[in-house]
Amino acid sequence: MGMINDFIENAKVVVQKFGEKANDTYDIAKLKSVKCRINNDIEKKYKALGNKYYILSKENKLEDADFKAEITALDELYAQYDSIVKQIDNVKNMKRCPVCSKLQSGDKPFCAYCGSKL
Ligand SMILES: [Zn+2]
Repeated sequence: MGMINDFIENAKVVVQKFGEKANDTYDIAKLKSVKCRINNDIEKKYKALGNKYYILSKENKLEDADFKAEITALDELYAQYDSIVKQIDNVKNMKRCPVCSKLQSGDKPFCAYCGSKL
């Protein structure tokens, strides 16, 4: 269980870190690398889940098997993945003001900070 919790904690820290950073710099490349890392974590979780299933199945212990922790961990990772995808979409929809360089929602005709035409 320790490994599973470590995975979740690591991913959370990464999401928070880059979430904060994204507010400052909107660095889409970094968000994409977080997305990739979460995706890798999901794949590792599936591998571990399959491995556990295989071993328990071989030992005829599947009936007593409990996969709740693994499934919860996967749900958590999927939620983080969705959140990152949304953050990437938000950043993609942003426009940078040509005058003050502030990033903002791309659906506005004028800069909310300096009033320049976007
Ligand atoms: Zn501006």
